[in-house]
Amino acid sequence: MIIYLPTNIQKKLIPTLEKAGAREIGGVLMGEHIDEAKFRIVDLTIQKQFGNALFFLRLVRDAVGSLKKFFKQTGYNYRKFNYLGEWHSHPTFPPIPSQQDIQSMQEIVTDSDTGANFAVLIIVRLKTPQEIEATATVFLQDGQFFECELIKEKII
Ligand SMILES: [Zn+2]
Repeated sequence: MIIYLPTNIQKKLIPTLEKAGAREIGGVLMGEHIDEAKFRIVDLTIQKQFGNALFFLRLVRDAVGSLKKFFKQTGYNYRKFNYLGEWHSHPTFPPIPSQQDIQSMQEIVTDSDTGANFAVLIIVRLKTPQEIEATATVFLQDGQFFECELIKEKII
């Protein structure tokens, strides 16, 4: 699976990550299905701090309003524009999924309420004040997960 991270999303994330400092932040990803196994991040929510740097609690409830707005803006074309997954930062350690992250994502994909048969987790951190370092992992309902290819559009 290939995930595209557009310039405007990176530009939204960089100051947010900078402001959050050592605090872990995150939210929900909204994606566009552009081809067979290719998705582009169209928007994301930036939710409040959930605890200390190592503690991440998912608050999809808080993202419902943003998702509804996204569905309206994209003409309720759920096959093309939909919830894609979650993102959060690892400000002080490498942007790879922790055991806790893997467990949380597996809960999300097996939760019948979300209706998703897969979910992507993007983990980010600031590499330099102008550049994001990130990984994307896709989680499937059968418990398998794979690293995706994450393509960052160049920031000009
Ligand atoms: Zn994490």
